[in-house]
Amino acid sequence: MKRRRIIKVKDKTFAISISERAIKSQIRHVAERINRDYEGKEPIFLAVLNGSFIFAADLLREIDVPCEISFIKLSSYVGTNTTGKVREVIGLNIDITGRPVIIVEDIIDTGLTMAHMLETLKQQNPESINICTLLLKPSKLKVDLDIRYCCNQIPDDFVVGYGLDYDGFGRNTKDIYTLI
Ligand code: 5GP
Repeated sequence: MKRRRIIKVKDKTFAISISERAIKSQIRHVAERINRDYEGKEPIFLAVLNGSFIFAADLLREIDVPCEISFIKLSSYVGTNTTGKVREVIGLNIDITGRPVIIVEDIIDTGLTMAHMLETLKQQNPESINICTLLLKPSKLKVDLDIRYCCNQIPDDFVVGYGLDYDGFGRNTKDIYTLI
């Protein structure tokens, strides 16, 4: 697809904010750190669908330690706990007991989703769990999260592209776009 500086997704207009080239370079840097940190280990990457599918595909091809990948999803059911609204983790069909796990997420906003996911996955007694996110909005974080791997910190704006959607659309761009 030809690169466009401005795109329309449904009723909203977005302007390019992170180029494909910048994204790829950020991913390579994070992957280098993961390769170093996990030398001699066999991590399981757990990619959170749907938003992380492109990021996970690009990240995995930069990883050179032996690894597995599996995909999890968050249910559309919305419950509440002490920190706010949460969704349940579904689709974990791999045994993570005693294994080093890396969660691959597209974007962390308030961090509530990730905090809940960590709580759920820790019940399976993995050897360790680290978070790898493509994007982080630091000003929105509501919980204390140890985010070991973050490709890019962004302001508190709504973004689409490179796997991230607006109402189901807009995932199929090579660059990331910000709502204007
Ligand atoms: P959190 O629990 O951290 O507040 O929410 C994280 C989830 O909110 C992400 O996995 C993503 O689905 C959605 N989200 C938060 N900010 C954005 C954004 O700027 N763009 C898109 N497309 N989704 C977002």
